[in-house]
Amino acid sequence: AGVDLTGQRAIVTGASSGIGVETARALAMAGAEVTLAVRDVRAGERAAREIGTGAVDRLVRVASLDLSDQRSVAAFIAAWDGPLHMLVNNAGVSATPEMRTAEGWELQFATNHLGHFALATGLHRALASAGRARVVSLSSIAHVQAPMVFEDVNFRERPYDRLLAYGESKTATALFAVEANRRWADDGIAVNAANPGAVATNLGRHLTEEDYASLPAYDFKTPQQGAATSVLLAAGPHLAGIGGRYFEDCEQA
Ligand code: NDP
Repeated sequence: AGVDLTGQRAIVTGASSGIGVETARALAMAGAEVTLAVRDVRAGERAAREIGTGAVDRLVRVASLDLSDQRSVAAFIAAWDGPLHMLVNNAGVSATPEMRTAEGWELQFATNHLGHFALATGLHRALASAGRARVVSLSSIAHVQAPMVFEDVNFRERPYDRLLAYGESKTATALFAVEANRRWADDGIAVNAANPGAVATNLGRHLTEEDYASLPAYDFKTPQQGAATSVLLAAGPHLAGIGGRYFEDCEQA
C-alpha cells in the first residue's frame, strides 16, 4: 500500500483465497491488524499462517463468516468490538450451472449484495468510531456489461448473458456503494466499489467452457495484481462524500 497502517484495523471477507488473501496480505504488510472473515475457517487459518510469515503473526486473525447467512452475519457483527478502519467486502460467488435457477439468483444476491450490505450497515458504528474509515465492495466488470444485454433483443449473442444474475448482484453492490458514500460522508466513512478486472482465481471454477467462450478474451491478472484496486481504496486517499466511486483497474493507474 505504500503507507503505514500501524494501529488500523481491517476486515477482509472471503480472505481464504484469491484476491482476498492478497488484499489481506498487503494490508498486514503495511502494519494493519487484519481479520480474515471466512466461511471455511481451516482455509482461513492456512491463509493466516501463510500471510503471517511475511507480516507479523499477531496482526492476522481468523473469524467465521458466511455472508449468505444473515444469522452468521449478525453473529459476526455482534462479536466485533471497537473501531474499524477498513472493511473490504470481497467475498463473492459466480454462477454454477445449477445456479441458473431462482435459487442460484438468490445465492448470488445474498452473498454478493445483501451480505455486503448487511455487513457494512451492521458495522457502521464501528466504522464511524474510527474517525476516518473506508469500505470497499468488490463489484465486477459484469456490472459494466450486464446493462448492455437489455439494449439488444438478441442478447444471447452478447457476452455476460450467462452471468446475468452475477452482473445484477454486482450492479446492486456498486449502487449501494454510491449511495452509502454520500450518506456516510459526515461520519468520515468512504464507500467505494472496486472492479479488479479479470483475475485468475477460483471464482470461475463453476463456469463451463461455453460460459468462457461467451466472454471476451481477457488477459488474466494474478490475484496480487487483482488486489491492487481494493488495497488502493482501503488504504489510499480518503474519498468520502465526493460522489460515489466505481474504480477500475487501479493496477495500471
Ligand atoms: P475466489 O473464489 O478465489 O474468492 C472468493 C472468496 O469468497 C472465497 O474465499 C470464498 O470462500 C468466499 N465466499 C464465497 N461465498 C461466501 C460466503 N457465502 N460467505 C463467505 N465467504 C464466501 O475468487 P476471487 O478472489 O476472484 O473473488 C473475490 C471477489 O472479487 C469476488 O467478490 C468476485 O466476485 C470479485 N471479482 C473477481 C473477478 C475475477 O476475475 N476473479 C472479477 C471481478 C470481480 P470459499 O473458498 O469458502 O468459497
